[in-house]
Amino acid sequence: MAEITSITLPFILNVSVNCYLVRGTGGFILIDTGPSGKRGDIERRMEEAGCRTGDLRLIILTHGDFDHSGNAAHLRRKHGAKVAMHRDDAGMVEKGDMMWNRSKRNPLSRAAFRLMFRLGEPDRLEPDLFLDERSDLSGYLPGARVLGLPGHSLGSIAILTAEGELFCGDLLGNVGKPDIWSIIDDRAAAEASIERLRPMGIGTVYPGHGKPFPMGSLRSGR
Ligand SMILES: [Zn+2]
Repeated sequence: MAEITSITLPFILNVSVNCYLVRGTGGFILIDTGPSGKRGDIERRMEEAGCRTGDLRLIILTHGDFDHSGNAAHLRRKHGAKVAMHRDDAGMVEKGDMMWNRSKRNPLSRAAFRLMFRLGEPDRLEPDLFLDERSDLSGYLPGARVLGLPGHSLGSIAILTAEGELFCGDLLGNVGKPDIWSIIDDRAAAEASIERLRPMGIGTVYPGHGKPFPMGSLRSGR
């Protein structure tokens, strides 16, 4: 099993957001970084897990949303790490616009969404690496694969470890029960992404929001 430290940060109301610190080759990998308002919390939790300044090698963003990307620029600077994500979500973190590359909704909610949910200027960044299913993570986490799982956003990815642990971002969540996450941009794509996961021999799913759960507990035929 990979050595995983779950870092859960309070977010909005009763919803928290998860980051996962994984011990890899020659240092740590952080999967998602939480919202910028919880910067002190994630830094403290990383230290407690033994990840001191300079020990973080790679930051993987499962997607571009600000509650996952909010500390990526800061932690990259602090540790000299690289930031990796899918190209199809890159504009979200480059421009701070969470509607970038997402489907058009009605203009009013789109404008309101843009105002409420954004990545502040100092926290925007250009990724160092773009990940897709051909990416080779063997220098960081041997045996791990990148899965392209569009639905929550076009550039949503998951990391599947050699031991069958899945870091699924916001395709799936577990607030109340394991299920497709409540905020989905393209429902049909998300359903297809979930069906693709079923035969992959996945053990534990580590979601962006809510507690880890066994893949087998995800209801089928949803
Ligand atoms: Zn999220």
